[in-house]
Amino acid sequence: MSKVLVIAEQRDGRLKKSTFELIGASAAAGNETHVALLGEGITGLAQELAHYGAKKVHIADHAGLKFYTSEAYSKVLFPLIQSLSPSVIMASHTPTGRDLMPRLSAKLNVGLASDCTQLAFEGDQIKVRRPVYAGKATVEVEFLGSGPRMATVRQNALGVPKPDTSKTAEAAPISVDLGKIAAQVTEVVKGTSARPDVTEAAIVISGGRSLKNAENFKILEETADVIGAAVGASRAAVDAGFRPHRDQVGQTGKVVSPSLYIACGISGAIQHLAGMRTSKVIVAINTDSEAPIFQLADYGVVGDLFTIIPLLKEELKKIKEH
Ligand SMILES: Cc1cc2nc3c(=O)[nH]c(=O)nc-3n(C[C@H](O)[C@H](O)[C@H](O)COP(=O)(O)OP(=O)(O)OC[C@H]3O[C@@H](n4cnc5c(N)ncnc54)[C@H](O)[C@@H]3O)c2cc1C
Repeated sequence: MSKVLVIAEQRDGRLKKSTFELIGASAAAGNETHVALLGEGITGLAQELAHYGAKKVHIADHAGLKFYTSEAYSKVLFPLIQSLSPSVIMASHTPTGRDLMPRLSAKLNVGLASDCTQLAFEGDQIKVRRPVYAGKATVEVEFLGSGPRMATVRQNALGVPKPDTSKTAEAAPISVDLGKIAAQVTEVVKGTSARPDVTEAAIVISGGRSLKNAENFKILEETADVIGAAVGASRAAVDAGFRPHRDQVGQTGKVVSPSLYIACGISGAIQHLAGMRTSKVIVAINTDSEAPIFQLADYGVVGDLFTIIPLLKEELKKIKEH
């Protein structure tokens, strides 16, 4: 059994699903699971973390933590880690986790395994697996030396456990003194999209260059709306201005791991595969039966997406209605 510290992520008072995945995985392995919860007006979220297996929630509720900055967050987390001495520290491999964890690992002078897709707790040790070479291979990482083992974990890689609302956690407020802060976020201007983010959605429907223009992405959006999916895109579609960069899946875009990934008119270049290879089920629709995406797909449809997608939408609607 290890003492594990999960760094929770919340936005606008809503906890991220990926935080529940980490807590669930730690608690399921019988670990003493602590959670650090930072932000402003977030104290009320502590019990929700308990439903997934948090034993103790360390809460830093402070106006200076309203918006994430690595400087302010690490000023709170560093002393907490020193006093708690966890064996393992985990965060989600989100933009926040990717920014914060390297700073903390440098301050603690310990190693960090990033973008892990599998975890195995062994006593107070942890072994992790992470994809390398754009997902072409997977390495197992063991930590050497002393000090906490640190890992960021890919979203949707572990799965969210069923919450148990009868569980409660000890809430431990942290007294926050941020001192002098060099840079501060004063405002966050949100994008206009009401759709789920590709990294969080259970289903992603992505389109490529073959969609030909931004307008044609409507057929993907309409299908996505039927099943609550997010809409993603290849880099070629993004570079052509069909979709914003936030929707790009791949090596230089976002890494997704949904239950279902539907690639529409996407060739399957290695840089695209790097961003969606760990999806649980992959469906590809492509006119070219030799397209590389079919080598990875669980289900392949050789055909014109402009014919297939509307048919798929109608079938999905029928399933939804029944
Ligand atoms: C450093 C670097 C980083 C990169 N990062 C990324 C990244 O993050 N994400 C990414 O996606 N790419 C990335 N790329 C680009 C990548 O190499 C490919 O160029 C890109 O993924 C191709 O996009 P695509 O599949 O939409 O287009 P194409 O390769 O042009 O493929 C279009 C596909 O659509 C099919 N098709 C055409 N018409 C239809 C139709 N009507 N119905 C069905 N199928 C049809 C074709 O058969 C073809 O397979 C990167 C490249 C480099 C060099």
